[in-house]
Amino acid sequence: MTGPAFDPELIAADLLSGDRRALARGITLVESTRDDHRRLAETLLGAVMARSGDSIRLGISGVPGVGKSTFIEAFGGHLIAQGHRVAVLAVDPSSARSRGSILGDKTRMELLARNPSAFIRPSPAAGTLGGVARRTREAMLLCEAAGFDVVIVETVGVGQSETAVADMVDMFLLLLLPAGGDELQGIKKGIVELADLIVVNKADGELDKAANRAVSDYRNALALIRAGSAHWKPPVLRCSALEGTGIEDIWQTIGKYRNAMAAAGQFQRRRAEQARAWMWNEVQESLMLALRHHPAVRDALPELESRVLAGDLPPALAARDLVARFLGKDSDRDGLT
Ligand code: GDP
Repeated sequence: MTGPAFDPELIAADLLSGDRRALARGITLVESTRDDHRRLAETLLGAVMARSGDSIRLGISGVPGVGKSTFIEAFGGHLIAQGHRVAVLAVDPSSARSRGSILGDKTRMELLARNPSAFIRPSPAAGTLGGVARRTREAMLLCEAAGFDVVIVETVGVGQSETAVADMVDMFLLLLLPAGGDELQGIKKGIVELADLIVVNKADGELDKAANRAVSDYRNALALIRAGSAHWKPPVLRCSALEGTGIEDIWQTIGKYRNAMAAAGQFQRRRAEQARAWMWNEVQESLMLALRHHPAVRDALPELESRVLAGDLPPALAARDLVARFLGKDSDRDGLT
């Protein structure tokens, strides 16, 4: 990354005053893969941490074309009119390959993007889901510190990214089309199981009746595949993002969810569990990185890998050898390779 040096203290001060440019710059810093930037990013996160957390974190998913960006535009505008500040982040691990992330298209959410109470950020152009998720978590904290009290994380409803997003938000919304509920539109059962709220979008015009049918189909399907927790049974609502109907009902339901979870102690607990899981992810990522860069590991890797590929060496033995090299424990390698 080029450009002027990052000063985390300065960025923190401006960001905490709600400055969107400082927020954008802070996110650029946490997205950087440079070692020196990583340290600055950690300083920045440390400086604003105490001011983060005061928000509702919403994950929104659905297949391409279901109306995610139309919905977020309508929903975000509705909340801003009530005095909220809304940040939208995207998780799209495919964006690096397909060029242009799901939020990269400038025509999406045009109105919201121009609103001073909104902040929209495309998915980081990093390769792995782990990498994208990690940066999105950090971006989320920065948004909160900058005073955004509703943080939306958008993801495409086609892959692994839903789980990663559900694991970083307070509530996961799944948008569906007003089509037959039997086949659940090819949406994987696992994704429906993640949903805390299902919304049938495009409940307007010719699709109005189909939307009602879909709502009752999904209610039935949900009762079969998901028991819900003692504190919350995921409701199925309808809306028209295009006409702006059903939006307030969704926001009210989000409020009910938050209250129910908070009253049961589950809201903070979910966040605490997420923080712990995140810590272990970081440990795992750092260890793997260090291992792969370790000279003794690097030297041995090509041969070990090719022997595993050729079926000459049991994978578990090769793994033990690599770890022993990494830890410098030659004694553990006796009788190995
Ligand atoms: P995304 O790919 O999930 O972000 O979907 P978009 O928001 O880009 O919407 C895909 C298409 O569906 C666009 O042509 C929208 O105008 C249309 N659309 C979105 N929401 C609605 C809705 O509530 N009703 C109708 N009739 N069309 C909608």
